[in-house]
Order: sequence, then C-alpha cells, then structure tokens
Amino acid sequence: MKKIYISFDVDGTLIKPDYNELIWFKEIPELYATKYSVDIEKAAKLVREEYEKVGEDDIRWYILQYWLDRFGFKIKEEEILRKYEDEVEIYEEALFVLDELYGRFSLVASSAMPRSFIDVKLKKNNLFRYFEKIFSAVSDFKMVKKEDAFYRRICKELGISTRSLVHIGDNFEADYLAAQKAGVKAFYLDRTNSHSTKQPHVVSSLLEFTHRLRNPE
Ligand SMILES: [Mg+2]
Repeated sequence: MKKIYISFDVDGTLIKPDYNELIWFKEIPELYATKYSVDIEKAAKLVREEYEKVGEDDIRWYILQYWLDRFGFKIKEEEILRKYEDEVEIYEEALFVLDELYGRFSLVASSAMPRSFIDVKLKKNNLFRYFEKIFSAVSDFKMVKKEDAFYRRICKELGISTRSLVHIGDNFEADYLAAQKAGVKAFYLDRTNSHSTKQPHVVSSLLEFTHRLRNPE
C-alpha cells in the first residue's frame, strides 16, 4: 500500500491562535510606546498604520525581525518569541489525535507562518516529534500564503503525488480550496460549525477528522 501523508495546518488547527496576536498587537505596540514615549493607544494605532503600509501581500509583513529593525528596537526576534512561549496553547484533542495517527501515517506540518513562529509552537509538548517534515510557506518557499502551488511544492519535496496527501486546516481558502485545487484531499476544520458538517470535507474537530479517515465515505 502506498504511504499516505497527513498534513496539519498549525495555528487554529493544532495550536490556539492567540500567540501571534500577543506579538503583533501587544508586544510591538508596547515596545513602540516605550521607545517613542507615546501612550499605548497611540502606539497601537501607529504600529497598525505601519503594518498596513507594507500589507499582507508583501513577505516583509510576516517577518518579525524586519519590524523590529524598522521600528528601531534593539530586541531580537528570538527574545520576543521566547518571552511569550508559555502562552502557546495546544488544542486538547491535538495530542490525542497525533498519537493515534502517528505510525499509521506519515505526518507533516504545513503552515504559512515563518519558521521561527512555527518552531516556538511545535516546541510545546515536543510536538516536533510527530512530524517527518515541517513546511513554512514564508520561510521555505517565499510564499505569503498557502496557495495551490504551496501544496504542489510540499508533495514535490516529499516525493509523492498530490493524491497521496491529505491536508487539514481551519482556513477555508488556504487549507481547503487551495489544497483541493492542487489535487490534495483536503478537509476544512470548522471549529465554530459555521459550515454544515454534513458535507464530507468539513469536520468540526480533529477527532471527527480521524473518524473520517477510518471510515471514508
Ligand atoms: Mg490555521
């Protein structure tokens, strides 16, 4: 039997997504307020305006060190990421599901985030140990989001056909539509149940996902 790979998105799928917000909308404004002696509301507004000038289609938007340099902060990216590492939270079911699938499938993590952000998250409970490979759209492929080309690149790197990859994630466009367009079997993790979970490609939890893998429709 051909080896099947299962690819997990990271934020919102394995890890609760609050950590990034802390960095971009708490830590950076705080550093800005201190350095330029403005109040925190003003700092938050000015920082946001700077982010917008670059925009999310520009790779620099995602690079923390770029922003630290741009704002003239002396602190290094690693220090900030470490400062908040205790705030990284895993979805409870994720460990159970990874334990269950590990060994039966080859597991990979596929995130748009830069490698440095992925690393701090997958360090939690040593999640690294489950994954044969970890892909970052920004760091590995200079892509600002996960489009169909991202999934084709992953399969190329793994030396497998797109039909041998199953991907799951919580972003309908980036994790479901783009993966599906690449020919990957994709599942949309809809934790809020905003879509009908009766559809075969929509699941409301990772537990339901493993159930679907065991009992394909
Ligand atoms: Mg996500």
